Amino acid sequence: MGKITILVPAYNEEAVIEKMYERLNEVCANLNRHTFEFLFVNDGSRDRTLQLVKQLKEKDDRVQYVDLSRNFGKEAAMIAGLDYTQGDAVIIIDADLQQPPELFEEMIHWWEEGYDDVYAVRKEREGESWLKKWTSRKYYHLLQKVSQQDVYPQVGDYRLLDKKCINALKQLRERERYTKGLYSWIGFKKKEISYVAQPRVAGETKWKFSSLLKLAIDGITSYSTVPLKVWSIVGIIISLFGFIVLAIEVIKTLIFGSNVAGYTSLFAGIFFLGGIQLISLGIIGEYLGRVFIETKERPLYFIQEYSESDQVENEPGQRSEIRNGRGD
Ligand code: UDP
Ligand code: MG
Repeated sequence: MGKITILVPAYNEEAVIEKMYERLNEVCANLNRHTFEFLFVNDGSRDRTLQLVKQLKEKDDRVQYVDLSRNFGKEAAMIAGLDYTQGDAVIIIDADLQQPPELFEEMIHWWEEGYDDVYAVRKEREGESWLKKWTSRKYYHLLQKVSQQDVYPQVGDYRLLDKKCINALKQLRERERYTKGLYSWIGFKKKEISYVAQPRVAGETKWKFSSLLKLAIDGITSYSTVPLKVWSIVGIIISLFGFIVLAIEVIKTLIFGSNVAGYTSLFAGIFFLGGIQLISLGIIGEYLGRVFIETKERPLYFIQEYSESDQVENEPGQRSEIRNGRGD
């Protein structure tokens, strides 16, 4: 018998929050070996998400909430939830019911068997554009190649984490978070289960293509220095190539005399090299930017308010320390 926290990051989810609660309620009613806490992290929603959560809390004291001071993004919302939770395990699930809560039973089963991180892999995605499917497939392919760790494709944040994993994740306070990589970095006993992704029940996806691109770049640059190193090799090859062409030109000039033709190739060369230099500068900037952000050591989030659980069991008072997002 343990306490399991269902962690739901929510940003502008007024359309789904009640449906979500009903499903959670239904599913958890059948899982009576454990006690549950439904923890909604309101990530600075501009709609009625927080009000709805508070209404639910009045009816059901398993409902808890953490309200962030603004929209910090899903990654920060998740760590805020992990800082807050005092359960023996946490299940992270999206608010939009794309991930079926019916999987809880299987997750909990494996947890009881001794696994620390039971993660759900989606088999195929329904109701998503081909562009998103294609880019995400390609991206994971690339990420797997350049980073030294296994980042499992098609693995989202839908997973059950044991207290051990929660405590480990809480210690990783990097700002540019890429949690999918962190899960594999911390290790512990992992178990994979699978499900078919559902279309969102209501509301719109909160990701823009640009934010997916940012997440993709974060993913690569936080787990690999390959992009930083590869340019020196490209540089060497290009300079070598340039040197050979130059040598040929010099010899040609010596033999056939000078001619002023060749502006095109000259310009092409300048543009090509200029481009390569700009790209490599950009990549250095990407890493430097991360260093800059990390050195500021800012908290990951701020909390506007949070619900005080009535049934605080272990380590009372710990929750008051989460206020500034520094964890413990
Ligand atoms: N989310 C969040 N903060 C954000 C963006 C999203 O807390 O800035 C939450 C959102 O409410 C949802 C989950 O993260 O519960 C996944 O978001 P979404 O369904 O929009 O992403 P997708 O499923 O399209 O990847
Ligand atoms: Mg979704």
